[in-house]
Amino acid sequence: MKDKKVAVVGAGLVGSLHAVLLAKKGFQVDVFERRPDLRRADIIGGRSINLALSNRGFKALEMAGIADEIREISIPMYGRKMHDLEGNLTYQPYGKDDEAIYSVSRGGLNQKLMNLADDYDNVTYRFNHKCQDIDLSSNTIYFEETELKEDLSYDYNHIFGTDGAFSAVRGRLQKTPMFNYSQEYLSHGYKELVIPPNEDGTHRIDKNCLHIWPRGKFMLIALPNLDGSFTVTLFFPMKGNISFESIKTKEDVMNFFNTTFPDAVPHMPTLEADYFDNPTSTLVTVRCEPWNYEDKVLLMGDAAHAVVPFYGQGMNSGFEDCSVFSEMFDQYADNMLNFFEKYSEQRVPDGNAIADLALYNYIEMRDLAGDADFLLRKKIERKFSDLYPNKWMPLYSQVTFSHIRYSEALKAGEKQAEIMDEVMKMENIHQNWDDEKVIKKILSLVE
Ligand SMILES: Cc1cc2nc3c(=O)[nH]c(=O)nc-3n(C[C@H](O)[C@H](O)[C@H](O)COP(=O)(O)OP(=O)(O)OC[C@H]3O[C@@H](n4cnc5c(N)ncnc54)[C@H](O)[C@@H]3O)c2cc1C
Repeated sequence: MKDKKVAVVGAGLVGSLHAVLLAKKGFQVDVFERRPDLRRADIIGGRSINLALSNRGFKALEMAGIADEIREISIPMYGRKMHDLEGNLTYQPYGKDDEAIYSVSRGGLNQKLMNLADDYDNVTYRFNHKCQDIDLSSNTIYFEETELKEDLSYDYNHIFGTDGAFSAVRGRLQKTPMFNYSQEYLSHGYKELVIPPNEDGTHRIDKNCLHIWPRGKFMLIALPNLDGSFTVTLFFPMKGNISFESIKTKEDVMNFFNTTFPDAVPHMPTLEADYFDNPTSTLVTVRCEPWNYEDKVLLMGDAAHAVVPFYGQGMNSGFEDCSVFSEMFDQYADNMLNFFEKYSEQRVPDGNAIADLALYNYIEMRDLAGDADFLLRKKIERKFSDLYPNKWMPLYSQVTFSHIRYSEALKAGEKQAEIMDEVMKMENIHQNWDDEKVIKKILSLVE
């Protein structure tokens, strides 16, 4: 592979990880990033933003040889803690015993991946390079060097588009025949806020869970950071009676939070200022097909499948793109055209499935997570799954703790939902849920 020159366009989470795995295969890798090097002292800083990393992500990090190091800078969250209007708490474990999702700093993870890629002699980073276009006949990429204001171009055997949801690389493929593309904005957006640490640096609320304030049509969530703070995110309608549009003044903010999230407010001393200082951002689902153009270009990560963040799988699925690429490469390397086509055929249905699952999970988190029927369903499912682990793995576990293809998990989840609908129709199920006949009913439906 030493003679093969490849470009990775976009040095975000997926591009940086993919660069490491390509370097390991022996490719000559140039990584282009439109922004300056985020490891530079004058760039570091700002708000702490975190992500939930889970098994699919860790698998790819293991392949890169950095999983243990990342685990050390992550905080395990073993379940959801739901806060109701009165401040009462309900806890729902994510999986079994020590199964957890891990809160990790987005910037910290990106920097570590960049450092790791930099350690390879066959990887070169070029920052301030904004991809403008690609000539697909010669596989030439055209860049604007944004500091020097120069136009530059480079040729490659293969180009990997990891330049995020609004990918310029994908933009070029969109102009080729038979390329399908769709983009759909959620009517809800988000705003990041903060719960700072206690004076002694400890966390103000339980750090080993993901906090949710489900409120039906919208929700607030909080994920812990290593410095004792929490990144808090308000997912909220963009327009309408109660929306980002309707909250205009500091008074509006405080009134809304005091009545809607009363137990969170005492932990958010900078709420008023943060609300107006921090941007309101949109959420988009992007689907496209195929992810390859011949064996010249391949899309990965958000460039191929941007999903809404409610399953905590955007980055994880992007990292899985990288691990699947590495595994399939070992099988198909002798024919790159066949490989790129096979890769796209396999991954597109999984990208679409996680997009669907993520959209569904918003409803589950904001609306159902505080609902007695829903919590009972989960309790019954868990009991059955503990008794018959080979017959039932909860959908959340399939998505988060397994490597089952997303498309298969989605199908299995639909079947499980049908079965649980039947179970919930049983007489006095809230009183009799622990009864043997409930288990028998599920057994008969599963079989
Ligand atoms: C609020 C929120 C919460 C989330 N939480 C989670 C979570 O808990 N777990 C999870 O797994 N995922 C989560 N995600 C999703 C996750 O952030 C994305 O899936 C992930 O960042 C995708 O990585 P990427 O490298 O594909 O794209 P990006 O992270 O967007 O990186 C793309 C890179 O390409 C660069 N670039 C863009 N255009 C060009 C160009 N023209 N030329 C050169 N470079 C370019 C960008 O500067 C950037 O560095 C969340 C997303 C949001 C919005």
